[in-house]
Amino acid sequence: MNLLQNQKLNNKKALIRVDLNVPLNEKKEVTDYTRIEAIKETVNFVIANGGSCILLSHLGRPKGKDENLSLKNILGPVSKTLDKPVVFFQDCIGEEAEQATEKLQPGEIILMENLRFYKEETDGDNMFAEKLSRLGDLYINDAFGTCHREHASTAVIAKYFPNDKYVGKLLQKELEAISQIAEYGEKPVLAILGGAKVSSKLNILYNLIEKVDKIIIGGGMAYTFIAALGGKIGESLIEEDLIENAKEILEIANSLNKEIILPDDIKASTDFDQNDLMKTFDSNKIESGWIGLDIGPRTIEKFNQVILSSKTIFWNGPVGVFEKEAFLEGTKSICNSLKKAKMLGVNVIVGGGDSIAALKKLGKEDWVSYISTGGGALLESLEGKTLPGVKALLDEN
Ligand code: AMP
Repeated sequence: MNLLQNQKLNNKKALIRVDLNVPLNEKKEVTDYTRIEAIKETVNFVIANGGSCILLSHLGRPKGKDENLSLKNILGPVSKTLDKPVVFFQDCIGEEAEQATEKLQPGEIILMENLRFYKEETDGDNMFAEKLSRLGDLYINDAFGTCHREHASTAVIAKYFPNDKYVGKLLQKELEAISQIAEYGEKPVLAILGGAKVSSKLNILYNLIEKVDKIIIGGGMAYTFIAALGGKIGESLIEEDLIENAKEILEIANSLNKEIILPDDIKASTDFDQNDLMKTFDSNKIESGWIGLDIGPRTIEKFNQVILSSKTIFWNGPVGVFEKEAFLEGTKSICNSLKKAKMLGVNVIVGGGDSIAALKKLGKEDWVSYISTGGGALLESLEGKTLPGVKALLDEN
């Protein structure tokens, strides 16, 4: 795969697939700038090396042209964040679009209209990809968040640039973070997986148990495993149909000499919405009528010890119902332990919307080694798949 090269950019028009699918409020104001910030490094690199930038992105899920989802709405925030003038063009293909990009001078940036105004984008249409390719001299994919989609601008367009397709700076960082978790991170490598359901992370569990040294399982996911070991879990979340898978994963771990670490004690309530009714149980002796909603104090200490004895850590998913103050403690303690570990030199990688939401809820998150910008793309990568957008950048494709 080609990383960005200085000498290839001079006077070149770089067609950059970015992910500017930012959240907007009712007034169409950007409420989170993370994804705009994330494109800065590639744009600055292209400009510093004498190129110009043609930014391609989607925004939302429009059905045809939809002014509410026009990228024009975010032109100001993009320009402000990049700290550079950016012009907007009202289409992303066609003769006029080609004329507009043709005129670009080194250092200039143009933002094209929402790719998804054309159904051909999500269909992965060849002709559409070819039309997009006419806008630039080289192609850079920097949209990790959409690399798991077989869309025209991510998985198809690259073939029109067989010698000029590049991995953007953000995509490069994301791929490195994934490699650190699943390939060559300093050992012991620990994955902390939480969240509601085993089903959404089943393939990740099967893949990561082969790759990492230890997996902490928390949140609603833990109870299917505790039940698989014969524990009593009261009314806690369970996926009965996955008990056999949970047993299998525990057996694989055992045979590979890997550790799966489950909660020893949990905080439960009789009612999801009644925070004041709380009791701590051993995690395998939860009385009927009680729902496990957070990890207990012994587990907090145990997880803390495991975190502090690891060298590379990946965290995805809260270990309790962190949205409710009463069940935030466990997730908060994970954040605090990770912060301590980071200060001791541990590589801490966080990914997945809810872990990032938890980090943000608990304060500044700038201490983390790397925060992934991908949701589905990150999860699919951790399942061991090569994403279509990444595959398209490989030399043989
Ligand atoms: P996910 O989207 O699968 O990562 O799950 C995130 C959700 O898991 C959050 O909304 C949490 O409230 C929820 N969650 C965490 N722990 C539990 C639990 N013990 N029981 C039910 N839901 C949980």
